[in-house]
Amino acid sequence: MTTTDPSRTRTVSPEMEWESPMYKEAATQFQNVAEKMGLDDNIRERLSMPQRSLVVTFPYRTDEYSDVRTAYGYRVQHVLTMGPTKGGIRYAPDVNLGEVAALAMLMTWKCALVGLPFGGAKGGVRIDPHALSRRELQRVTRRYTAEVIDMIGPQKDIPAPDMGTDERVMAWIMDTYSQHQGYAVPAVVTGKPPQLGGSVARREATGRGIISLLPSAAMRCGVAVDGARVVIQGFGNVGRYAAIAAAEVGCRVVGVGDLTGAIYNGNGLEVGRLARHVDEFGGVKGFPGADQIDPDELMAIECDVLIPAAVGGVIHAGNADDVQARLILEGANNPTTLEADRILLDKGVMVVPDIICNAGGVTVSYFEWVQDLQNYFWSENEIVSRLREIMIRAFESVVDVSVKEDVDMRTAALMIGIDKVAGAKLVRGVYP
Ligand code: NAD
Repeated sequence: MTTTDPSRTRTVSPEMEWESPMYKEAATQFQNVAEKMGLDDNIRERLSMPQRSLVVTFPYRTDEYSDVRTAYGYRVQHVLTMGPTKGGIRYAPDVNLGEVAALAMLMTWKCALVGLPFGGAKGGVRIDPHALSRRELQRVTRRYTAEVIDMIGPQKDIPAPDMGTDERVMAWIMDTYSQHQGYAVPAVVTGKPPQLGGSVARREATGRGIISLLPSAAMRCGVAVDGARVVIQGFGNVGRYAAIAAAEVGCRVVGVGDLTGAIYNGNGLEVGRLARHVDEFGGVKGFPGADQIDPDELMAIECDVLIPAAVGGVIHAGNADDVQARLILEGANNPTTLEADRILLDKGVMVVPDIICNAGGVTVSYFEWVQDLQNYFWSENEIVSRLREIMIRAFESVVDVSVKEDVDMRTAALMIGIDKVAGAKLVRGVYP
């Protein structure tokens, strides 16, 4: 007779400090794939939770000098096995530890899948960046950097931009870190301005990377790229450059939505003009030459390709059935819930999952880090062609596994990423 010692029960449930809907989704996704792979129990338990999580609270002065507010900040490193950790910093009013931990886990699989020598990390500050002045944003950024400074560094953990942060924020992080060290350390962050050792083509990399997969993905689901109708949610770093790249390859971008509203033009929006409008007015709302539509309708517009490039969880059980696109290219992290995934699979919609689809950003970030460490900078052509090569190679490997194992693309992508990390963990062993 076998008995179970309760003290040896595996703690693979995510009901811990990282508890949040997003972490639960990421952890369940991992558990489902681990089950399918027959992953070693010891490894499975280790990978089901982040290795290091830091929560900080810190003060910052508003522009009203005597007004001091407190902000929450986070940095999570999921796996330290593969090399330094890497992942963006998100500024948003609802950022929490669970969300940051979920995104760190996704980064681990993404880096392993595309073959980058990093573990996954993520950071965040719970503020609304649009409600702060430039000076307030700078003070928040510098103090947050000081709070997490022991955790980051070119050989430890290298932040990058994510939602609500940009090149300017990365420049402040680089400067704050360098002031503490006493010398310039460009390799501490990626996504910096080129004047500080930022890589050419980093700004466009995620959007361009998404569209580099479009021809192969479209061919597999019978969509012609030329004239394909594309709908994009989000017109920030990812959405804007995905729209530009999509227009360059002959697609018609018919619908775009962001925090300000949503617009539609069945003949195709003039993407260059739209970008100038967004720069001037802060969002797509009011763009002339397009109909203003209800943002909730965006996911259900008749189109061929849907690119969620804003926040997580936007394709869910409540709207997945209304999706008309035949192909979804996930620009955002975690835009599709597990339930929606099943509905889309049943409908025959092809979903190219986030961990491959938006990997262009971290890939060019990797190039930037390498260039900074070597103080030797590559041409734009070199960067763009190496990015394409890496993206397409990773995509083909996902297709191969999906066919061989008879699984959807997300499961295949996760299987590759998880398998590489598990293999590395096994050969490193357990210390001491
Ligand atoms: P960003 O801050 O530059 O832009 C975000 C865009 O989404 C803006 O247009 C904003 O108006 C819109 N948006 C925000 N909340 C929204 C909502 N509730 N409904 C509709 N629109 C909304 O951010 P980004 O860097 O473009 O990142 C977008 C997504 O892509 C995030 O999920 C991020 O994690 C992911 N991502 C970014 C990168 C990168 O290199 N920046 C790389 C990989 C993945």
